[in-house]
Amino acid sequence: MEEFIKPLSIEFEGIYFIEGEQRARYPYSNSMLIGDYLIDTGISPRRLKRLKKNFPINKVFLTHWHEDHISGNYLLRDAKFYCHSKDKSPIENVDEMIPLYNVRNTPVEDELKSLIELLRMRNIKIDNLIEDNDIFNIGDQLKLKVLFTPGHTAGHCAFYELNSKIAFLGDIDLTKHPYYGNLDASLIEFEESIAKIKSIDADIVVTGHRGIIEGKTQIHEEIEKYKSILQERDDRILTFFSEISSPVRLNDLRSKNIIYRKYSAFKDFELIAEVLMIEKHLEKFLKMNIISRKDDGFILN
Ligand SMILES: [Zn+2]
Repeated sequence: MEEFIKPLSIEFEGIYFIEGEQRARYPYSNSMLIGDYLIDTGISPRRLKRLKKNFPINKVFLTHWHEDHISGNYLLRDAKFYCHSKDKSPIENVDEMIPLYNVRNTPVEDELKSLIELLRMRNIKIDNLIEDNDIFNIGDQLKLKVLFTPGHTAGHCAFYELNSKIAFLGDIDLTKHPYYGNLDASLIEFEESIAKIKSIDADIVVTGHRGIIEGKTQIHEEIEKYKSILQERDDRILTFFSEISSPVRLNDLRSKNIIYRKYSAFKDFELIAEVLMIEKHLEKFLKMNIISRKDDGFILN
């Protein structure tokens, strides 16, 4: 067996963790194989070719439209592709990613286009749509359930195999960097989806950018840690509000390391994504009546 392919259950055969190249750091991500179903295709072209040599892949489930999860689609042209209706359009036309990331006419537009080229991404047709609670029977033993978990993108889905209690959480990724920096993201939905994931009580979870996490206690701890990162971001924004008397404008919150504690080599992109993510927090605060609009900004209630 290749070293990046690991069986996830002894009792239930046919469920494998497929680790992405570079330990699934961007622009790569992890996959899970269940029978002849592959979830996500961003492990890297090299690994995907090696995987195909070992296993037939007839169906591909895509958790969401982000490039690091769909980049290998072009290598699986004989398979049938599935995703949620809300993420179908940018998967079928990858150029739509540019407005969704809000990077049109910025230096990031060219960087993103180069990456699309580098990854050799191609548009594919989605053959079937999936919805919350759909169940796919795989072989005699496995039942894969779709969990509609929007927020990271509008159509993000996680997957849960009911008998083995193994879940693939996509980009509810349990890393230190929860992300909702595209126009179709929603923090309110993201938090609801995290609660939904917690309620399924899985024994093993795998995410797009984390390896295998085993045991209910461990999984619950990781989910709590993930939620606390969002809480810290809420707190930093509200602290900023409390330290200023005039209405706070979105622009005042720009480049303040509120979401990214340190900007990296991808700073141009991070600054754009950070503003989008702060907007999602403000949207939540408005809904919770913590802040109100005033003039062209916001004030604490
Ligand atoms: Zn993503």
